[in-house]
Amino acid sequence: TNIIDKNNILGIGVAFAGLINKDNKVIKFSPAFNWHNLDISKYLVNKTNLPLYYENVTRLMALGEFYFGYGKEFENFIFINIGYGIGSSAVLNGKLFIGENGYAGEFGHVIAEPDSKTLCSCGQYGCLTTTSSGDAIAKNAIRFINEGEKSILSSIGINRIDAKAVFDAACNNDELSIRVIDYALKNLAIRIADLKKCFDPKAIIIGGGVSWNGDYFFSNLNKKLSNLNMRYSDNDKSIVIPQSFPGKAASIGAGVMVAQKVLNL
Ligand SMILES: [Zn+2]
Repeated sequence: TNIIDKNNILGIGVAFAGLINKDNKVIKFSPAFNWHNLDISKYLVNKTNLPLYYENVTRLMALGEFYFGYGKEFENFIFINIGYGIGSSAVLNGKLFIGENGYAGEFGHVIAEPDSKTLCSCGQYGCLTTTSSGDAIAKNAIRFINEGEKSILSSIGINRIDAKAVFDAACNNDELSIRVIDYALKNLAIRIADLKKCFDPKAIIIGGGVSWNGDYFFSNLNKKLSNLNMRYSDNDKSIVIPQSFPGKAASIGAGVMVAQKVLNL
């Protein structure tokens, strides 16, 4: 049954993880889905006959934040999405910044460990994704347990260990989990400090599943960040805060995108 009259639907907005070419709107590369040069409109427009718009998920989260969240008050902010992978999107001088080709914001693929032997899905070694994403946190915990280290995580079963389980264990003083998260947050803090130095944003807004581990995540991250400021700069005043709409940011941003395109805002 049709719950919503099709005439009342302006269009469909799709959020996805990966690179989208600014000019031809082809999805250049999506590491998480292993998509290469994919035009998803071919698949979705025929089935729905509705106008279709799609954009990088983190960019849509930033857009939603900009129109309806904390971002309303900020002309300059950077949104960082830390879930299974890591992405970012900057609003600079009140505008979403997408770069020359549309590929700006690949924060998850800046190099965190130059000599790392851990291959990232993007083809490089030692990306921030391999040290600090939800996937990396789970994998590092599993690796240490497989190497014989003791952890309360062993009791829940190797296959059920995800980033949330590692955070929960860390909150229960599990030494292995504390160490794994400390490593992830140390690398994340260094690269966030780089962003603060490069862009001087009013705020760094952090969303995505890993950031939903509340106080443990933010207090430890801020502690590490406080040691990474230049002596004579004001960039240490830029705040690091949680997102406005956990779990809903991409949908809100996708709605904003469709309204912008259809209504020509
Ligand atoms: Zn990478």
